[in-house]
Amino acid sequence: SIMPASLSAISNGARHGILVKGGVHLENLGHLEAIALDKTGTLTKGKPEVTEVIVKEGLKKEQLLWRAASIESHSNHPLAMAIVKYAKQNVTKDLFHPDSLEDIPGWGVKAEVHGEQWKIGKAAFVGKEDVDQFADGKAKELASSGNTLVFIEINGELCAMIALKDVVREETKLAIDHLKKQGIHTVMLTGDSEKTARAIAAESHVDEFFAECLPESKVEHLKQLKAKYKTVAMVGDGINDAPALAIANVGIAMGGGTDVALETADIVLMKNDLPRIADAINLSQRMNKII
Ligand code: ADP
Ligand code: MG
Repeated sequence: SIMPASLSAISNGARHGILVKGGVHLENLGHLEAIALDKTGTLTKGKPEVTEVIVKEGLKKEQLLWRAASIESHSNHPLAMAIVKYAKQNVTKDLFHPDSLEDIPGWGVKAEVHGEQWKIGKAAFVGKEDVDQFADGKAKELASSGNTLVFIEINGELCAMIALKDVVREETKLAIDHLKKQGIHTVMLTGDSEKTARAIAAESHVDEFFAECLPESKVEHLKQLKAKYKTVAMVGDGINDAPALAIANVGIAMGGGTDVALETADIVLMKNDLPRIADAINLSQRMNKII
């Protein structure tokens, strides 16, 4: 019968740090043809650090950083937390409360500070096409080496750029190589820019990547993958990833992820351990054979 094989496979999985919420998910894993993975927190550690702060000539770096960190201290985005941490190490003044604040997931933060309109976020958010040229091509160079760029606009003027680097997990490359050997097409999805995404995708060994994804475009990419491949998995950790986890044939959450991701997923990797996915696939293929 079907029960003993899938039950013993589930309990075997649990012993190895894979929580499976039902035999059908494990069975699907054995038929997997493609896997989409979120970049930040899934392929990378999800703990970015500030590598460079570049401000427009004539502006005071410390002053600008102090205000930017005061705004970002109201966002719980990993980039925001990294900017606040860096400012606390480099600025002596206490952070303050902006007069108004709006956190826009996937884009950045808007705030009013002493009558000034601030925008902190990705290039498309500050609405400038010339961001690549900011600081004499330094932006391009930083993005191409895998840095995420955050831009600061004050009253419609591009004033600063903060570069942050999030390291690829040590085990990512191996895990991706293993999946590819199992004949599975690997795809990275990210809200980050094209150049940054290209660098991290190369470092991670994924077959394909899509950059500048909003949460709804992650869902769109999953639909397209499902039209092309019979069984598709999605791996993610953030609130952003939940809709994509829900639409995948198999939704896989990193154990350290947000509650929404953990609740939506069919499978949870308890130790954020990517190589476990390949193990689970092997387990599932064995189980499907027994059935
Ligand atoms: P990902 O899909 O890679 O986890 P998000 O969709 O959360 O990324 O964000 C996409 C981009 O929007 C970030 O790379 C960053 O440039 C910008 N962004 C989002 N939130 C913030 C924030 N609080 N502060 C600065 N930049 C932000
Ligand atoms: Mg993420």
